[in-house]
Amino acid sequence: MTLALANSKTGICDSHTTAARLTIDVGAVAENWRHLARLSHPARTAAVVKANGYGLGIAHVVPVLNRAGCKDFFVATVAEGIAARTHAPAARIFILNGLDPDAMPAFGRHALIPVIASLPQASLWARHNSENGRHPCAIQIDTGMNRLGLTLSQARALLGDMEHAAQLNAVLVMSHLACADDPDHPMNGQQLQAFQAFTRTMPDHEASLSNSAGIHLGPQFAFDLTRPGIALYGGRSCLSGQNPMRPTVTAQAPILQIRQARPGETVSYGASAVLDRDTRIAVVGVGYADGYPRSLSGAGIPLRGPSHGFADLPRPCVWIAGGLAPILGRVTMDLTMVDITDLPAGAVREGDFVELFGHNLALDDVAAAAGTIGYEILTALGARYRRSITGAG
Ligand SMILES: *Cc1c(COP(=O)(O)O)cnc(C)c1O
Repeated sequence: MTLALANSKTGICDSHTTAARLTIDVGAVAENWRHLARLSHPARTAAVVKANGYGLGIAHVVPVLNRAGCKDFFVATVAEGIAARTHAPAARIFILNGLDPDAMPAFGRHALIPVIASLPQASLWARHNSENGRHPCAIQIDTGMNRLGLTLSQARALLGDMEHAAQLNAVLVMSHLACADDPDHPMNGQQLQAFQAFTRTMPDHEASLSNSAGIHLGPQFAFDLTRPGIALYGGRSCLSGQNPMRPTVTAQAPILQIRQARPGETVSYGASAVLDRDTRIAVVGVGYADGYPRSLSGAGIPLRGPSHGFADLPRPCVWIAGGLAPILGRVTMDLTMVDITDLPAGAVREGDFVELFGHNLALDDVAAAAGTIGYEILTALGARYRRSITGAG
């Protein structure tokens, strides 16, 4: 069943065929989770649904993951945790960005579990628990990324003080891998050793280290709980090799107009795309206001300027009528021009939809052409897309 939805951010339901559209296959999300759960076994598998489920929508992905058997969710903020709680009443929901002193009542009310990353946060939680009962928390340890987390010695001192530890009620200790997307990177082994040494002294706590890429580094990285994000949504987590995950999102946009241009004419702002032949141009209704990155411009931006010369960057394209159509000149706010000259005459008509990424054009190939990663493309998907959900069962 396909379900058309009013835009969740603006409440505007754009039913016109001129709106770009996203098709979100939540069945594929559930299937990806089950695949990762098999790889992680005997460790349990959580789901990272921060940034509104990597752009797919917490309201769409949490229910299917919950039904698939996922009992642990990670989000970044309290607001995301509250949103996830609506769809997973009995799950554990961890707040990765830690304790927000302004939102203390929300942790209790929605049974959210803070991931404590500093000593002041630990003191605050212990004090909170002395007045409100022993609510669980998680402890994050930094093993080399220098992002969030206690140092190893801070964490040892904290959890070694029995009285304080009882008050804290830490149910999980976790750390995060910096280089798991590169299996040969020496940092993986270093972080593994540091985390193993720590968890050996804390046998009563569950431990968690691996993101999507970490799951593929081997069973010693799984500990008790894995935390995949991008792989659930079909994105590439490792720098090289096959991506075994199923794509979950197809982004399409309509051709608003087809025009014919002559050699010597130019396309888009800055007149940076200069045509060297008779060219058929399709004007596509998507732009950077939709999160379609301006760095996908075919010309006229620093990434593709004469002084940069990133010759190995893939050429930015869309997919239409069984072929690729290169992007001409700059991506604009609402519109993007593509070259359809080489597609069979009559194969492309006004009103047809081009694929921006999806089953024919991999998310990560588009991201690479934009000089970024699939994570950024998904989490930037704009509010104007008309969203349809498939595979909900
Ligand atoms: C985002 C995040 C994850 C998930 O990472 P992916 O690479 O998307 O699998 C796991 N753990 C932490 C702490 C994170 O911030």
